[in-house]
Amino acid sequence: MIYRRPSYYDTFHCLGGACPDTCCRDWSVVPDEEALADYASAPSPLRERIARNLVADEDGDVCFRLDGEGMCTLLTPDGLCAIQRDWGEAHLCAHCAAYPRFIEEYGSLTESSLAISCPEAARLLIEAPRFALIETDDGQNEPPFEDINPDLLAGLEHSRARVLALLDGGAGTIWEKLRIVLTYALDLEGFIGMGEYGQIASPFPPLLEPDPSRRQGPAVRLLKLLSGLDPLRPSWPELLKERAKQLSALSPTEYLQLRAGYERTNPRWERQLTNLACYLVFRHWHKAVNDDDIYGRAAFVCAACTALYHLSLFQPGEEAVLWTQFSREVEHDEDNLAQLTWALSRWIPPDFI
Ligand code: SF4
Repeated sequence: MIYRRPSYYDTFHCLGGACPDTCCRDWSVVPDEEALADYASAPSPLRERIARNLVADEDGDVCFRLDGEGMCTLLTPDGLCAIQRDWGEAHLCAHCAAYPRFIEEYGSLTESSLAISCPEAARLLIEAPRFALIETDDGQNEPPFEDINPDLLAGLEHSRARVLALLDGGAGTIWEKLRIVLTYALDLEGFIGMGEYGQIASPFPPLLEPDPSRRQGPAVRLLKLLSGLDPLRPSWPELLKERAKQLSALSPTEYLQLRAGYERTNPRWERQLTNLACYLVFRHWHKAVNDDDIYGRAAFVCAACTALYHLSLFQPGEEAVLWTQFSREVEHDEDNLAQLTWALSRWIPPDFI
């Protein structure tokens, strides 16, 4: 069995009460059966408090209650979970204990990552010198899970390694590389559809650097598209609409000046976007093993980089905040992610980079 994780994975520590945007907000967390049974033995008065704050969600599952601000009602004023503070971390439910760690298992392969919906995970990714993976192999030759096509998984492994190498170390700007990834994914999806997994060894398509002056209109359209998704917090679509308005009001010269000013202010911008692209490719590429949709996932990666670059033009230095918001609103919301990839698949590639 092969295990993989980003090189900064083991350095993560939850900020607890010092977190600028707690994960105990907006999400309805469904505790696992083991945790629910454990709560019955909690010391009083915590036991009664937990019981008061468990409710049924719209699917009938038992979850923690959220207050009018969307905060988990077990959150204490010092920003800590009452269960953790008064009883111990060992009693957190599996979901809360694991977050922001996410594990994907394919039978022969287990991959761990830190979701950037957590501000500390976003900071670690932004500050990483590069996106490197640590790989270990326990020597056990597990086959892929039964519902996984081993040839497709092998093809995805091969193609993702190529894409990560291109993004992280290949020649060209991040925009040029993203356009190559998008076009490559389109070819790849065609081969996957025909069951020709061996064809993924074909060379990357040559592409020219996109003209930055022609990126303004597509960026505006992309921000508007994102603002139409179902929001977790109303402030997110408001921000997107405002930025789309500001961006479309710029003359072509002002647009180029804004980009140049941002890139001067933040000389690491391209490394940051490269890390973001690699993180998203690492987390999402292999999920095509379930539905063959490799192009939609590549388009999502490109759209995320384009949108977050343009939002950062107006908020230099706040990249981690923006990445966290984007991840919470889009990456973690299956319906929004599906709606976005559907819309992007109807957008002539690679126009939105
Ligand atoms: S968002 Fe991250 S840093 Fe903040 S409380 Fe949750 S796990 Fe900790």
